[in-house]
Amino acid sequence: MLLPRFQLLQPKSIEQATELLGKHEAAARIMAGGTDVLPRMKYGLESPSYVIGLSNLPVFEPVDSDGFLLLDSLMSLTDVARSEIIRQNAFGLAEAAYAVGSYQIRNMGTLGGNLCLETRCMYYNQQHSYQFVEPCFKRNGDRCYFIPKGKQCWAVFVADTAPVLFSLDASVEVLSNGSPKRIPIDEFYTGNPLHPCTLSRQDLLVAVRIPINSGLRGTAFSKFTIRGGLEFAAINLAVVLDVQEDGSTCSNARITVGAVAATPIRLKKTESLLIGQKLSDDLFNDAGRTAADEIRPIPHHGFSASYLKACLRSLTRDALTSACSRIPRH
Ligand SMILES: Cc1cc2nc3c(=O)[nH]c(=O)nc-3n(C[C@H](O)[C@H](O)[C@H](O)COP(=O)(O)OP(=O)(O)OC[C@H]3O[C@@H](n4cnc5c(N)ncnc54)[C@H](O)[C@@H]3O)c2cc1C
Repeated sequence: MLLPRFQLLQPKSIEQATELLGKHEAAARIMAGGTDVLPRMKYGLESPSYVIGLSNLPVFEPVDSDGFLLLDSLMSLTDVARSEIIRQNAFGLAEAAYAVGSYQIRNMGTLGGNLCLETRCMYYNQQHSYQFVEPCFKRNGDRCYFIPKGKQCWAVFVADTAPVLFSLDASVEVLSNGSPKRIPIDEFYTGNPLHPCTLSRQDLLVAVRIPINSGLRGTAFSKFTIRGGLEFAAINLAVVLDVQEDGSTCSNARITVGAVAATPIRLKKTESLLIGQKLSDDLFNDAGRTAADEIRPIPHHGFSASYLKACLRSLTRDALTSACSRIPRH
């Protein structure tokens, strides 16, 4: 498969990058690591005249800034997975970054690129000839092959780091037409599979901001895939568990599931089941059952909704057990 023709532009500063985005607008695509945008171009899903490569931009190290962990959107996923300050303050994020693809993908792929991933579907993410000729909704057509007679696109958002950032109550910093803007992560996604992120073509995601928690907290990420590695999530899940001073009563819980819709989804009913309760295996089993009842996953990539529910039940139980085991003990 060959790439279509395009002109590669390689700004050396964020200012130059935003200038180019403003100048070329819809004719340009940002390329960070290129591990998603280049395959999409090879499949004919994108054919921009200009590709704005960000690999010459400086990348800052993660810092603790006024109680927030500030991460450069261009950090590679390998660096996210290895960073000591991230592992100490947001272990689940390091775990999620490590769950992406393979070593090569994580070395090239960036945190920002992962958050701006397009939604996926087994029919759409193919060459056009696999699309039974007539284009689907996501290719500007009028049909869905995955849900026959579907009245809309049902592609799902599968990025691994996004659910953790939901559970960590993170926000993202964006340069929109050159002006800075902060967006809470749960407002960053539209829920529309055709345009999963709120970013416009002139916007550049520059940083991720995670509140640092000084209390007793455990975090965990878990993912189910059909193969052990190099595979997108059939379903993924991120848990943040806070406990009171006694070390065993849950004071707050945030659980987010991904790859079941066009945006990650918080499991608020399951969270409230946990809050105020003593953490135990029985409670985690109950939480797994509640989680499976709480949502209706979109079936995708050959996984039925009932199968994904069964996966969600065990992922929730396992992630809660892991998060609990990571809560610091006195
Ligand atoms: C074989 C294979 C396996 C994979 N497995 C996984 C997996 O298990 N889990 C997973 O989550 N992903 C997976 N991916 C998808 C992808 O590799 C990762 O999501 C990666 O993090 C994307 O980052 P990138 O920097 O390469 O993004 P790019 O390809 O550079 O960009 C992705 C999208 O984000 C936009 N973008 C990038 N950076 C910015 C920015 N700073 N501001 C605004 N827009 C931006 C681009 O325009 C593009 O639309 C896989 C890909 C492949 C090829």
